[in-house]
Formats: sequence, structure tokens, C-alpha cells
Amino acid sequence: MEFLPFETVTYPALLVPEKPTPDISVGITSTVPIEIVFASGYVPVDLNNIFITDEDPAHLVERAEASGLPRNNCAWIKGIYSAIKKLGIKKVIGVVEGDCSNTFALMELLATEGLEIIPFKYPYGRQAGLLQKSFHVLVSALGGEETTLRKAEEVKKELDRIRTLVHEIDRLTWQEGKVTGEENHIWNVSTSDMMGNPVLFERKARIFLEEVRQREPLRERIRLGFIGVPPICGGLYGFLEELGVRVVFNEIQRQFSMPYPSKTLLEQYLLYTYPYDIQGRVDDTRNEIKRRGIQGLIHYVQSFCYRNMYDTIFRRTLGVPILTLECDRPGGIDGQLRTRIEAFVEMLGKKAPR
Ligand code: SF4
Repeated sequence: MEFLPFETVTYPALLVPEKPTPDISVGITSTVPIEIVFASGYVPVDLNNIFITDEDPAHLVERAEASGLPRNNCAWIKGIYSAIKKLGIKKVIGVVEGDCSNTFALMELLATEGLEIIPFKYPYGRQAGLLQKSFHVLVSALGGEETTLRKAEEVKKELDRIRTLVHEIDRLTWQEGKVTGEENHIWNVSTSDMMGNPVLFERKARIFLEEVRQREPLRERIRLGFIGVPPICGGLYGFLEELGVRVVFNEIQRQFSMPYPSKTLLEQYLLYTYPYDIQGRVDDTRNEIKRRGIQGLIHYVQSFCYRNMYDTIFRRTLGVPILTLECDRPGGIDGQLRTRIEAFVEMLGKKAPR
């Protein structure tokens, strides 16, 4: 795949300051149309990424608990809460339809603490008219004008060009074995806000692509897919690599990169599977199992998350062995998880053709 040289690339629609201040930063709790955020003159900050890349994410969870958030609640929510406090963010876009009731309650809590909350809805049933209405609501909440949505379509074209680089990183993962599962995970999750600076993000992605193209292909015994929300615990990918296993598909993370071609914002966010019914995710995963030669899946489930119930549907519909792993809070993987992973890999190894 050939790309325009970086020097010749321009960004007429994207005006991004080098160092965004809390005043122009907007926290996001899940993937939302960042094209509209940029077109309105704001910089999106994915609070999940801020939380999990903090030097001590477990401490952020504890701080939220010390402020009164329940122990038996999703740790992503608590980490997001503390990340907001730490960054001094004043405005947050919360997905109140298409994500989870914990996010909804978090938005209400933050509103009582004086933050400006901008609700965003992905309509259940993927109705185009309702999603278009959500775009208009978002534009007006961000103080945009009549022309903002048109400008956002221009921003989309520029972001799509950058997303293509991440799609190439994804292809190099499963088709050429030049990118590890963890690298794939990091690049894909980072597309949710493009690190708040798409120009820098593009530059880094190009450097990474150049570097990995020189690599020798990685060899693996087993090819795994990873489905479910991004894991809160660290060390999972590294441990799998030690066992000769490579993750060649990160389902939800890949969705953040908007993997399907689309002409408009509306089409793009209707194709995005995560916030809608489970069938879209099942179809996408089934296709990728076949295309990528996946022998088994790890379904990551977050403690106290309603999405855990989807495990039953995945097991009934996907047709490959599935190992369900659950973690509560940030940290490494414990002995029990390691043993379960080893047993799963051994079972897949016995099934694999010699
Ligand atoms: S992991 Fe589940 S409960 Fe936690 S924020 Fe995500 S969707 Fe909500």
C-alpha cells in the first residue's frame, strides 16, 4: 500500500493546538464523532486512555473509591472519574445510549460536581434519522454553527487518511506477521481520540509503519482473536506471545479505527458496531475469524459489566473455542488466569493440524 509522503500532506480542516488546555479539551468516555469535536474547535481526550496509561492506574481506582464510588462497580468508570479530576477537565461527552448505565450514572455524578456534561446517543436500532439528530445536538452543545457539520465532513476526510495507516498496521498484523497483538491493540485504541493531535499521530504511525516493514515475520503456533472491551489488566498479550500464541484480531479496538469504508459521517457511525445490538459484532467477528485464520478467541469481560452476558451469544454463534477471562482492576494477570490460558492454548494446540 502506498501513501502520500508526509511532507506533502496538508490539514486544511484540522486546526489543532500543540498543547491543548483544559478549556478547549473535551473528555470522552467512549468513541464518539471526534470529527464534530475537532470541527467545533475542541480537542477530544479519551479518558480511558488517560486512565490506563497513568503511571499508577490502580491508585486512580482507589482514589475514586475513597471519594465514594462503590467497590463493586466497573473499575473503568472509577478510573475515568479520577482521570477527569487529575486533568482538570471541565466538559465531558458521555454516551448515554449505546454504552452502559454506569456511564450514565457517572455523568449524573459529575454534573452534581459542576462539570458540563454533553450527552450523546447512538440510537438503539441504528435509525439514521435519530443519529443525525444526535449529531445536531452535539454540534449545538459544543457551540457550533450551521456550517459545523459540513466542516466535520471535511475533518472526516483528513482523519480517514490517518485511519488508513492504522488499517495498514492491522493488515500487517494478521497478513504479514510484522506487528504484535499488543502493538495492534495500542494503535487501534489510540484512534478514539488520535492522541488529541492527529498530525502528530499520523507522523508516529508512518514512522512505525516504516520500522515494522523491515521486520522479519513473527512466527506463531496458534492464532487467536480477542473480543470484548479492551482489557484493564496488563501483561496479557506478552504472556500469550511467550506461549507461542499471536493475537491477530482485536475486535472492539479495531472498531474504534472505523474499519469499513464510508462516504459520510452518518454512514461511518452507523457501520460502527460497538454501540448497537450484538448481531453486528457477531457478523464482524465471524468474518474476521475466517479471513484471519483464527483458531480460538479470548473473550475479555470486565467485572461488573453488563456486556458479560454476551458471552453466551458468542459461544452459541461463533463456532470456535472461546476462553472467557475476567479482570476487575489494573494490574498483572494472576496465577489462576495464567493456568487457564495455558490450558486453553494446550487444547488449541492439540486441535491444530500438524
Ligand atoms: S466495561 Fe462495561 S461497565 Fe465498564 S464502562 Fe465499559 S461498558 Fe460500562
